Amino acid sequence: MSKYLITSAIPYVNAKPHIGWALEIIQADTIARYQRLIGNEVFYLCGSDENSLKNVQAAEQSGETIKKFIDENAKIFEEVARELSIVFDVFQKGSNPNHYLSSQKLWQLCQENGDIYKKSYTGLYCVGCELFYEKEELDKNGECLEHPGKIIEEISEENYFFALSKYQDKILNLIESEKLKIIPDERKNEALSFIKQGLKDISISRSNARAKNWGVTVPGDETQKMYVWFDALNIYQSGIGFGFNHELYKKWWPADLHAIGKGILRFHAIYWPAFLLSAKLSLPKKLFVHEYITINGQKMSKSLGNIINPLDLIKKYGSDSIRYYFLRYISPFSDGDFSEEKLKETYNADLANGLGNLVSRVAKLCENNNLIAPVISSNDIIIEKDLDEFHFNAVLEDIWQDIKKIDIQINIDKPWKLSQEDVLIKLQKYIKDIIHIASRLRPFLPETAEKIQEQFQNKIKATIPLFPRL
Ligand SMILES: [Zn+2]
Repeated sequence: MSKYLITSAIPYVNAKPHIGWALEIIQADTIARYQRLIGNEVFYLCGSDENSLKNVQAAEQSGETIKKFIDENAKIFEEVARELSIVFDVFQKGSNPNHYLSSQKLWQLCQENGDIYKKSYTGLYCVGCELFYEKEELDKNGECLEHPGKIIEEISEENYFFALSKYQDKILNLIESEKLKIIPDERKNEALSFIKQGLKDISISRSNARAKNWGVTVPGDETQKMYVWFDALNIYQSGIGFGFNHELYKKWWPADLHAIGKGILRFHAIYWPAFLLSAKLSLPKKLFVHEYITINGQKMSKSLGNIINPLDLIKKYGSDSIRYYFLRYISPFSDGDFSEEKLKETYNADLANGLGNLVSRVAKLCENNNLIAPVISSNDIIIEKDLDEFHFNAVLEDIWQDIKKIDIQINIDKPWKLSQEDVLIKLQKYIKDIIHIASRLRPFLPETAEKIQEQFQNKIKATIPLFPRL
């Protein structure tokens, strides 16, 4: 048994969660469940980025104190996760005092290695990204590609800098050699080409005034707060005790997988490994980079008013239906579209009529024939082997092919026309087929898999449908 530390990205809690976050935690939870099934000891770490300027600005607008505002929002993120059957081992809040200690420890290690220095600086800052950009990285209107329409601020200040340039060759080599593996290749190449353009040192602090006195204080300098990414990335370590619980940290670090969206590749493929190299700490092994969800073909955005609250969807369709749609119909490696209409169609076609109907049909036949479930051997329990490369959609497609095949076989067999003895033989076979499917579904649709396994035990009864038609 090996240990497996998986993380999903640490969201800003300046607003309520949207379905993009739901996609990511569903993917990460599926990987975590798969890893548990193949016998690994798994720790799934998530948390909330609470020290960004975005949070401060949003709190100001809401009229609440910063702490109250972020606590309330972070709670909603946790609630969405719970409702989606996501199992976090820790949800580390960025405002947790032990996270502050941990981040200061990371800073001190980088400083001891001579990689942190002070200098005056003028740069173009996108608060949306919490990142300084070069002029040529912005679009022709001088706007951020991730945040069109948002104001880019020119900021002049004396800050602490991190000697990122020093790590250029090391990080290039790490990614090329796949010691830090980036999946898919397209994102690996994007990271490589960014590095090849030349890495510049980055500002990793801001004045108290600009940070509105919120965030982690720079060790030894009461006038500066840490740049939010420096502390936010460290949530991956502070969540397992870095700087205050050595045993726990030693057990779990390094991360076996960081699951992230494509918009934050640079921070995870370049900045984060550089901070860790500087601090002489182990590096994460793998990045899984997913794409974005569009809504009815459009980018999700507040100004378009197309932000969907995942809790509303879960209430209406159930958690496994959302998990199913995202894992099957949003490709992990290209942008995928969501609309409630498509979700509803999928629900009726694949879940109510496909899986749900097959299960009810066989259960009903069993009930009519007073069947006691056959003993299930370990051979009937399948664990997917194809999830190492995160092709969730391909595996689900394959499972649904099997569902179709069993349905067709029942139509050919016409068990209702057979003698009692022959019916029982056929039914035993269908039950094993269904158990086989339920076992394959465990990482994807945990609640459904459990319900099916429970239904096909002992005396089998037709119960309420798994997915009532809408
Ligand atoms: Zn931006």
